[in-house]
Amino acid sequence: MYKTEHSAGGVLFKEKSVLLILNFSSKWTFPKGLVEEGESAQDTAIREVYEETGIKGRVIGYLGKIQYWYVWEGIKIKKTVDYFLMEYVEGEIKPSFEVKDAAFFPLDKAKELLTYKGDKQVFQKAILARGV
Ligand code: ATP
Repeated sequence: MYKTEHSAGGVLFKEKSVLLILNFSSKWTFPKGLVEEGESAQDTAIREVYEETGIKGRVIGYLGKIQYWYVWEGIKIKKTVDYFLMEYVEGEIKPSFEVKDAAFFPLDKAKELLTYKGDKQVFQKAILARGV
């Protein structure tokens, strides 16, 4: 028996840097969150990027989905996350209570900081899609 969850997030570029958050597992990763009822995954990505980091972005493409398993209070959860390629529109970094930190990093540095396998794959796709 397991539960499923669906989230969406953004790989948001500002010139030659990319936006990451530090989660409560102390891992640098992309901002994301649960898709609410009646909300498109694309709108979730825009909303969650803004809520978690204070940055407003626009979606310029779809990068595909990743999946992972985790256990919460003894229940196995299969999580699917849709990622969108995004670009900076406006705003200053203002990390929310949902994250430990948020920052823009140069692409090489971001590549070093990302640890989740799915994140590395999505980041590679984003770099190819963006042509940087
Ligand atoms: P959301 O941000 O979608 O609201 P959440 O904060 O409730 O989700 P997750 O970020 O999915 O939860 O974290 C749940 C567990 O999964 C944690 O143990 C976390 O370390 C792990 N996790 C988070 N992102 C990934 C990933 N990309 N790949 C593998 N494991 C991950």
